[in-house]
Amino acid sequence: MAIARDIADRPGAAATPARPAPLGEMIDPFGRAITYLRISVTDRCDFRCVYCMAEDMTFLPKRDLLTLEELDRLSTAFVEKGVRKLRLTGGEPLVRRNIMHLIRSLSRHLQSGALDELTITTNGSQLERFAAELADCGVKRINVSLDTLNPDKFKEITRWGDYAKVMAGIKAAQAAGIKIKLNAVALKGFNDGEIPSMLEWAHGEGMDLTLIETMPLGEIDGDRTDQYLPLSAVRAGLSERFTLTDIPYKTGGPARYVEVKETGGRLGFITPLTHNFCESCNRVRLTCTGTLYMCLGQEDAADLRAPLRASEGNELLSNAIDEAIGRKPKGHDFIIDRETRKPAVSRHMSVTGG
Ligand code: SAM
Ligand code: SF4
Repeated sequence: MAIARDIADRPGAAATPARPAPLGEMIDPFGRAITYLRISVTDRCDFRCVYCMAEDMTFLPKRDLLTLEELDRLSTAFVEKGVRKLRLTGGEPLVRRNIMHLIRSLSRHLQSGALDELTITTNGSQLERFAAELADCGVKRINVSLDTLNPDKFKEITRWGDYAKVMAGIKAAQAAGIKIKLNAVALKGFNDGEIPSMLEWAHGEGMDLTLIETMPLGEIDGDRTDQYLPLSAVRAGLSERFTLTDIPYKTGGPARYVEVKETGGRLGFITPLTHNFCESCNRVRLTCTGTLYMCLGQEDAADLRAPLRASEGNELLSNAIDEAIGRKPKGHDFIIDRETRKPAVSRHMSVTGG
């Protein structure tokens, strides 16, 4: 594929990074520097997690997707405008055909020093096959989503997932030297009783664990008000068993961390419903069709596919990005409506990327 060849042919591609050229800066109307881009490279997935998708989820027609070359060009435009961290997500990023060509290609921005971090969020199903190559591309830490350590419950929550494959993927990533942060969605009546053992296991394996509250994104088969478990309650429960100390640790994401004295590991909480984390938001999200969402919890979006395709140069694209950042909202307003039981935002997490 052209982009991969382009990198491989670049003289001195693996040489010591030169001092990075000064890059642009994107500042939103509330003074926040936008330095983090999450890209949903596909809306497709090999799992059907019950809180994320309906089992008969309808996916986008393949012809609507940006090509890998277009995703590369768009990402690069953002890097040139000041993005320092890129996360590929989805859907399941590792099921997109030839995804490693894109990752290999984007890794040139790590080598040049323009990018601090290139990473993915994955369900782990394909990690065993890709771990070594990811490490070779400079991917140093990744997020793996895992909601339970019980293989039967894993099947129940992911519908289509294979627990053994995910475990093999985690081991392969660790063997390749990639640090893993586990993400678990806290679900009432499903994994609340298991969180202490997940914490002990993750920390014993040298992985951080972050708990996420369910967010009302997209129609699913079930009822989210039944699943919602406030993390304040989880934290209170854990405090009876563990000594949790707030720490200022930051990964550029919205999680707030505590250190767990008994395990020596870190535990993160992402609480979009009980705690407003918008004031320090540094990110925007791009879908696989080139739509830019300035906020996960708002409908406003900007189409970047048209300016991308309208010309070979990046001027139109760059103007469209500036215009979009100029209307990034102050924050979101998630609610799970108890009257209508409808999600506050109708698109799925797999479209915008988690
Ligand atoms: N397929 C990959 C995975 O599962 O890691 C990446 C995409 S997935 C949409 C990203 C994250 O979003 C996962 O950790 C998943 O558990 C979380 N997620 C999906 N739907 C959610 C929802 N409605 N509320 C909260 N988290 C959700
Ligand atoms: Fe797929 Fe991730 Fe959604 Fe699960 S959470 S269905 S793995 S995109």
